Amino acid sequence: HLGNETLKAELGRAGWKLFHTTLARFPESPSLDERTALAHYLALFARLYPCGECAGHFQKLLVQYPPQTSGRVAASQWGCFVHNLVNQRLGKEVFDCMTVGEAYKCGCAEEDEKKKK
Ligand code: FAD
Repeated sequence: HLGNETLKAELGRAGWKLFHTTLARFPESPSLDERTALAHYLALFARLYPCGECAGHFQKLLVQYPPQTSGRVAASQWGCFVHNLVNQRLGKEVFDCMTVGEAYKCGCAEEDEKKKK
């Protein structure tokens, strides 16, 4: 496990960035297959997260608050909620989930627009 607090925090910021951006890009109206894929992805993210202590806590959170996979808004609000539970446990400030849709851009919107045409 990573014994160093700086490395753990860096991993955390990178991990959350990928986590929230994935949820912010999840389809608005997912197919059953896409919903299953997200549920598996999140379960494996929690299981394989490389800070063992963090993974243990996060897996328990996912059991208590199962991922919402019905669509982009539900999924990203759920993600914000569980990150806030981690924030609270670590004594950090709670994030305003009203802004979570705006906060996670990926630079891929243009590509998606092209696909539509
Ligand atoms: P972070 O919590 O890393 O957040 C990064 C940025 O995300 C913030 O600056 C803010 O802009 C935004 N943000 C904050 N809250 C939210 C939210 N609710 N929704 C959307 N965006 C938000 N560290 C430990 O010491 N012990 C643990 O048990 C632990 N468990 C973790 C479990 C997981 C799954 C992950 C990904 C990380 C975990 N970490 C843990 C790391 C910890 O959560 C932080 O990432 C780390 O401490 C750095 O914190 P930070 O203050 O830079 O902000």
